[in-house]
Amino acid sequence: MSTKESLKYEVNGTEMTPEEIKTDMTRIYPSKVARKRAKHIMVNKVCDDGCVPEIESNVRTIPGIITQRGCSYAGCKGVVLGPTRDIVNITHGPVGCSFYSWLTRRNQTKPEAETDENFMTYCFTTDMQEEDIVFGGEKKLKACIQEAYDLFKPKAISIFSTCPVGLIGDDVHAVAKEMKEKLGVNVFAFSCEGYKGVSQSAGHHIANNGLFTHIIGLDDTIKKGKYKVNLLGEYNIGGDAFELERIFDKCGITLHSTFSGNSTYDGFANSHTADLNTVMCHRSINYVAEMMEKKYGIPWFKVDFIGAAATAKSLRKIAAYFEDPELIAKVEEVIAEEMPEVEMVMADVKTRCNGKTAALVVGGSRAHHYQELFSEIGMTTLMAGYEFGHRDDYEGRKVIPTIKVDADSRNIEELEVSADEVRYKPRKSAEELAKLKEEGIDWADYVGMMPEMKDGAFVIDDISQYETDYIIENLKPDIFCAGIKEKYAVQKHGIPLKQLHSYDYGGPYAGFKGAVNFYKDIDRMVNSKIWGYSKAPWDLNPELSAAFANS
Ligand code: SF4
Repeated sequence: MSTKESLKYEVNGTEMTPEEIKTDMTRIYPSKVARKRAKHIMVNKVCDDGCVPEIESNVRTIPGIITQRGCSYAGCKGVVLGPTRDIVNITHGPVGCSFYSWLTRRNQTKPEAETDENFMTYCFTTDMQEEDIVFGGEKKLKACIQEAYDLFKPKAISIFSTCPVGLIGDDVHAVAKEMKEKLGVNVFAFSCEGYKGVSQSAGHHIANNGLFTHIIGLDDTIKKGKYKVNLLGEYNIGGDAFELERIFDKCGITLHSTFSGNSTYDGFANSHTADLNTVMCHRSINYVAEMMEKKYGIPWFKVDFIGAAATAKSLRKIAAYFEDPELIAKVEEVIAEEMPEVEMVMADVKTRCNGKTAALVVGGSRAHHYQELFSEIGMTTLMAGYEFGHRDDYEGRKVIPTIKVDADSRNIEELEVSADEVRYKPRKSAEELAKLKEEGIDWADYVGMMPEMKDGAFVIDDISQYETDYIIENLKPDIFCAGIKEKYAVQKHGIPLKQLHSYDYGGPYAGFKGAVNFYKDIDRMVNSKIWGYSKAPWDLNPELSAAFANS
């Protein structure tokens, strides 16, 4: 029997078990909806061998439920391709969809020279009107590509289809091919219509397939650098990539290509020449790592640069991969140099934050990674969940063979990948990989969020606004972490919300300096008295009440 301590809850002065809270939380729903939501709401329990309860995820949101999810187009354009500075990204669709055509996640970029291309501040759209929907928008798309080319002469132009384009059947790929031949630059398209999947996760998969098909492998130039590492699933939110570039540089590791924070077209095209792929947000990009391993022989492993201990662990893992005593010593030297400041701030902030609690609902790996930063200052995560996570993000990659493939997942193309006849070059032999595995390198693996959470904590997939309100009112976390859509509704409850899709105006939060920034920001937020003065409109005026019609 497990001897681990489980979280306990007191709700309105009464002690309640997590199971009782879960029953109470779903009581308001019609019985069919309650049964469905119950499969997405888990009370965490970790067995001695690391197994956790099975959670339902990556399935359609129930109509009528207010979800935090984005659409497939948002995942393809907004998340994966958006942070690249020198590709002109055109949204083919009505202007309303192009909210994600202009960046909304505070991804940052730093061109090397002032004259270098940077299109991230622009929003390109075909602005489809009623007549385009009736008579087709291909002509308008061609004209738009031509206009973008004439104005900016970019190396590459990509096109993103939104829902109406899929419905009327514009052949964006044929247009891209025609314009590629005409203009002599790389033009490619994504069929990432918003309805293509149950969330933005489908868009990530489509984006990765497109990057792999149209860009990766186009440039075989071998670049300088001793330990060439690609960083996948790092989007340079609030300058995270700049801090990681600083650390890598200090260690003597060459950050070869980043997918896709502070990234360039040439970086993608040349990424297959690196020595190692490291993966931060596995949910959004593990497909690229897997395909590059098969086609080019580059091994990959999971890294986590959120939290000081996690950063040190990931740097040691990279150094262990290269098996060079000089690099191993240098990494230790850098960790020893960076940690004193981190530990000093951590200890100070912990005196004020110890014992406080957090709830996090973000993305498909951030809700996991950020728990480490909270635990470093003594804060406990009572509830965490993902908007677009899959079961492996919650339970660990080992459950992938048991995940049912449904019609929504089948909708997304799976590329057939095999070893490139010319470019396949295993970076390590099978024996070397096996030896490193014995020494602790977990190739192509991740543990998932639930095995690393406390027993009794709530894990909620695709949380609804009602469930968010319930958690805040009854579990009373000291801080809630989510995105802009949730921010003001949460703050009206009188608690702070930290945006972890964009960091509000803060950051970076990755790496050593990022940890220091995060501790200080959280300290300011959870120890500020202003939240107590915040009154929600429903606390000041009579509240309208309503009920679900029970079927
Ligand atoms: S769901 Fe469709 S219509 Fe809505 S923003 Fe996404 S692509 Fe546009």
